[in-house]
Amino acid sequence: MNQTTKEKLELVNGVLSEADKYNHALALINFDMETICPPGAMEEQGELLSFLGNKLFLLIKDEKFIEAGEYLYEHRDELDEFDRVMAEQLHRDYRKIKNLTPEKQLEFSRVFNKAFVDWTNARKNSDFSLFAESLQKVKEVTLEDLSLREKDEETKNMSVMDELLNDYERGMGTKELDACFEHCKERLVPLLKKIQASKKVIRTDFMHRKVTDEQQKKMTEYLMSVIKYDRNRGTYALSEHPFTNLMAKDDVRITTHFYEDDFASNMYSVIHEGGHALFEMYQPVENFEHHINTEKTLGMHESVSRMYENRIGRSKSFVHLIYPKVCEIFPEAMEGVSEKELYEALNEVKASLIRTEADEFTYTFHIIIRYELEKEIMAGTIDIADLPKKWKEKYEEYLGVSPQNDREGVLQDVHWSSGFGYFPTYSIGNMYNSMYYKCMDEAIDVDKCVEAGDFDKINGWMKENVFKKADRLAPSAWIKDITGRDFTPDDFLDYLEEKYSKIYEL
Ligand SMILES: [Zn+2]
Repeated sequence: MNQTTKEKLELVNGVLSEADKYNHALALINFDMETICPPGAMEEQGELLSFLGNKLFLLIKDEKFIEAGEYLYEHRDELDEFDRVMAEQLHRDYRKIKNLTPEKQLEFSRVFNKAFVDWTNARKNSDFSLFAESLQKVKEVTLEDLSLREKDEETKNMSVMDELLNDYERGMGTKELDACFEHCKERLVPLLKKIQASKKVIRTDFMHRKVTDEQQKKMTEYLMSVIKYDRNRGTYALSEHPFTNLMAKDDVRITTHFYEDDFASNMYSVIHEGGHALFEMYQPVENFEHHINTEKTLGMHESVSRMYENRIGRSKSFVHLIYPKVCEIFPEAMEGVSEKELYEALNEVKASLIRTEADEFTYTFHIIIRYELEKEIMAGTIDIADLPKKWKEKYEEYLGVSPQNDREGVLQDVHWSSGFGYFPTYSIGNMYNSMYYKCMDEAIDVDKCVEAGDFDKINGWMKENVFKKADRLAPSAWIKDITGRDFTPDDFLDYLEEKYSKIYEL
């Protein structure tokens, strides 16, 4: 490495270390606001967020920093692997905001803020027309934002939708997703029909028996210890929507929620968020030293959380492991309930309207519907005003259910108020984890580990094979590195077919 490169690297590292401190503080404030911040303090906290956010923005908009970052990108061959990843990311970010003036940025953020407020109001009133105008604006600024970006080798031939998808899952465009989702439909639609026609009765009455907060706290503690979530570097709190927050290298927190008539909701939120947390906790320390610890994509992240939640958490062996403790903590709710009944209830397939409450099987349809609508919105082949109608048609077509109002239909998710391209990452995660689960199973016999409660072995395999290079590789290279194969939805579809054929005795 020549002297200039060395100096530029030092400068960039200095600024990024300072940026990390701001991000650490911002994460703490965010966590506080979502959990225990008193209502009267929210406004002041919000101001604190804006203040620190602005300082951070100025820091990374500094000309010397940008110039050094671009220099490093051009001289990336001189850098080690970690620094090269960092320089490439800086370049990608810079390309996106280079032509964006502060005035434009403010204008855009106002549109998104208003869209969020309008969505909240429309949802409350279950009236899509109160959100339609804002959604149209979101679409327009999304297009304008994309047109301002400088194209590079990677993005020069991308369509609008491809570039949006690429923002969330690098390298995954409409070509890949169209093929993937068409294939899912081919295999899942007939299978769902068979499940719905099955005579199998799954008992679920006990799932809604009342439990106390005290009991749910005990269950939360128990499940965190089962999956070996490190309590020395993490904690939990309650929030409306569960989430995971990476504060810093040694501080990864999760949240959950307690519903008195749905004990499983807390349990599977803890395992899901716990999965996200393990991914962050057990990543290489070098990622922090080189400021690349947030490079992993959403699809990668969801693959891990959903593997712990569904693939492991809803397996027979996991239910076998936790059944005695579930009975001990919830004696009233579990009275007269067998291990098999608990397993089946946790895996009931039921076509429903709400994505976040969907089971593992029907979940993919919720994503396909949103993906197909987004493509039409961005291509301009659908009128925003017609969305509720189109939404209804698709739910009827794929799931055989029909929303009675906008609230349980097109207005259920907040995501569109901040743009498009996000949803597929939820589904892709299931497909990644089904691919690497096979490798893990060959190496360590996962069911045996789960039954024995040996999560050190599972986490150890994940750390070495799945977590280690996630921040350094693009998704397609990452999955190939783990499995030796190219991305495919088939392993996931095979898994669903096998598991649910057994449960529903098809
Ligand atoms: Zn998640």
